[in-house]
Amino acid sequence: MTSFRIQPSGQGIGADLKGMMAAMMKEGGMDGLLLPLVQADGVSVMPSLVTSPEGLERGALLTPAFPVNTARMAARLSFKPAGRKTAVWLRPCEIRAFTELAKLNQASREELVILGIDCPMAMDGEACREYGKDHKEEPDHWAGQVYPDPSRADLAFSRACTLCTAPVAENADVNFLFYGSTPDEGIVVEAGSDRGRDLLDRLSLEKGAVPENRDAVVSALAQSRESAFEAMAGEVSCETDSLEKLDAWFSACINCYNCRNVCPVCYCRECVFNTDVFSHEPVQYHQWADKWGKIRLPSDTLFYHLTRLAHMSHACVGCGQCTRACPSDIPVSDLFVTVARVTQEAFDYRPGSGDPPPFTEFKADEYQDVVGIE
Ligand code: SF4
Ligand code: SF4
Ligand code: SF4
Repeated sequence: MTSFRIQPSGQGIGADLKGMMAAMMKEGGMDGLLLPLVQADGVSVMPSLVTSPEGLERGALLTPAFPVNTARMAARLSFKPAGRKTAVWLRPCEIRAFTELAKLNQASREELVILGIDCPMAMDGEACREYGKDHKEEPDHWAGQVYPDPSRADLAFSRACTLCTAPVAENADVNFLFYGSTPDEGIVVEAGSDRGRDLLDRLSLEKGAVPENRDAVVSALAQSRESAFEAMAGEVSCETDSLEKLDAWFSACINCYNCRNVCPVCYCRECVFNTDVFSHEPVQYHQWADKWGKIRLPSDTLFYHLTRLAHMSHACVGCGQCTRACPSDIPVSDLFVTVARVTQEAFDYRPGSGDPPPFTEFKADEYQDVVGIE
């Protein structure tokens, strides 16, 4: 892989990145960029489509804000041809989710160039807003906090990020290698595909080298996150290993379905929980209450979560959006990533990989022990 270096302008990593984004439009042939932009309140950050270099002014490429999984927005821009080339700035879990949607024909890479990053991690809700207010005038502040090594324990990383064992981009067209680097010496970028190489060749970049410490930083991160993950998964498994315990785990759930609405890999066009299947007759509730002595309302809560797990746990990318969106402070993603680890190991499947999703192709020797065929 050929590496390039973005020459530092002396104005900070954010300015250097925005300069490169502008060059992608001016020299690289990109018609638009999908990237995080500070919104009108000066604090909130949302993915936004920019079609002129001037629109980059409010770019916040290395923000700790992670309000939505951008894979869904990238899918909206690409599910059918627009006749425009767009470069899309994605965190590793966003690329994984986008890849899963593309496998289901709900997104396409045809007109996109995926820009993948060594993840700067995220902060949640109120902490993130406060951080945004405190550093309104210092857009590069977060980059200074997390690079070259984002393993600091004193930062209020979102819980999902402290458990994320895959914070490095995979299957991107262009990779931004921040881990182990000294941004003052110039950000290193690497082509991950021919399309990425074509784009980088059009920009005026110097040759670069992969940061020496990068492998060590990545491996230390993966190791510490794996230990944290195993500890969390052990606890969650104990707390949810029967229907009664699972029911108790979701006691505070108000069936708002936020966790489904924000999940980038919940793929059904029409969810069964929005259909008449769950619009029960009034007498039905009485009959259930007669049978069990009581019926919790809203009802079907556990059914909803189990259905979602059955549908998408092979594809869960561990982004934590479900936990962020929960108004009842239920750590939804803790359970989903715990189950997802088991499902994905059982199917030998990695979301975001090039493999087809489980059950979409016939494997003659699959699950012979389960179906009883020798
Ligand atoms: S879950 Fe992983 S990839 Fe996603 S934002 Fe957090 S650290 Fe980055
Ligand atoms: S279940 Fe939660 S953690 Fe998993 S992909 Fe969906 S939103 Fe992300
Ligand atoms: S977001 Fe929380 S309250 Fe809403 S359905 Fe999901 S678990 Fe229940």
